[in-house]
Amino acid sequence: MFPHCARRKGIGDFYGTVTKTFCIKERPVYNIPDDVNAPFGSTLANVKLPAADNGTWSWEDSSLNVGNVGTKNFKAIFTPKDTEHYLTIKGISVPVTVHHTYIKVVAVEPTCTKKGNIEYYICSDGKYYTDDKGTKEITLSATVVKAKGHSFVEPTWNWSKDYSRATISSTCAECGKVSSTNALIRTETIDPTYTSEGKTIYKATVTFNNKTYNDTKEVTIPKLVYTAPEISYEQGYNAVKLSWDKVGGAEKYGIAGYVNGKWKLLDTCTDNTYELRNHKEGKKYKVAVVTMLSGNWVQDVSNAVIVAPKDTETRFPSITSIAYNEEYHQFKLNWTKVKGAQNYGLAVFTSGKWVVVKQDIPIGTTSFTSPKLRPGQTYKMVICAKVGGKWDTVDISSRAFSVTVK
Ligand SMILES: [Zn+2]
Ligand SMILES: [Zn+2]
Repeated sequence: MFPHCARRKGIGDFYGTVTKTFCIKERPVYNIPDDVNAPFGSTLANVKLPAADNGTWSWEDSSLNVGNVGTKNFKAIFTPKDTEHYLTIKGISVPVTVHHTYIKVVAVEPTCTKKGNIEYYICSDGKYYTDDKGTKEITLSATVVKAKGHSFVEPTWNWSKDYSRATISSTCAECGKVSSTNALIRTETIDPTYTSEGKTIYKATVTFNNKTYNDTKEVTIPKLVYTAPEISYEQGYNAVKLSWDKVGGAEKYGIAGYVNGKWKLLDTCTDNTYELRNHKEGKKYKVAVVTMLSGNWVQDVSNAVIVAPKDTETRFPSITSIAYNEEYHQFKLNWTKVKGAQNYGLAVFTSGKWVVVKQDIPIGTTSFTSPKLRPGQTYKMVICAKVGGKWDTVDISSRAFSVTVK
């Protein structure tokens, strides 16, 4: 403070002296802040200046961006508390160190369906780092940990009661999610036989979680119950023709004969008919049909029948065969013997009457060959036997037969 004294010379009434003191403001004492830091990307408004005992710091232009990393100077103002005695100082260069800030992103474990990430740092410069010093840069995509996908346990099969449907399902060991898919069912049937069981096989196939799974169910079909086929037969002359119902799965049939107290296999055949030949008239035969199934004879002779060929001696001559000769337009008749016959005769029915055409066929001959005739001509005929000196014409009409010349 510099006191300045002056005398003023008065005029008139005034006298004496006036003293006035003037002060000249001093520059305040301040220390330029040397520890001002600012994160990258901030403006000075957000950059704090230190407090001082004798005044306050402020930025000249707080709207300025701090700019790139490094140390640079910005203009600041120091305003003293005692502005009466001290000057406000502008344009003070204050160094500001711009640094990066890092936001830590914690590691997130991925789940079955959601991706996770490793621990990393997002820098205020917009880049990503695995450290908070900005030394190991990483791309954002490299921080991603892929979703793990479900960890399905070994799947289990679920079949409907009748095996017409099947599903496969599995539970995720991680999250408990249950996944299931319907399978495609194919059916195969192995028919049962009399010697082996059959089965129905249900085959399920499904693609589940990129893997193919198969499962099989089987239902047993019981063996067929063997029933010996019922035999019917037709008597022939010196022969018997057997026939029976086919047996499913039969490989062949056996004709068994009961001979001397034992069953004996007489012959085999594949068809369901068989003709027993050269059987003596008047003799009875006990026969049965057995079946070969899966390589084994099913020796069930419960279908045994007693058969006998037709009698060759009959009450009336009975036609046993008619043979035709197409070249010469002839036919040949054969007939059965008649007990006590003396002769055989042949009659033709013509113009409403029976006309005898031959009456001297000897008893040892039971056949007749016609002369050459006109093809297509039909004759109604009968063979009669002469017994006790008389032609036996009983039931002649019902015994008549027709022959058409070929
Ligand atoms: Zn940075
Ligand atoms: Zn899961």
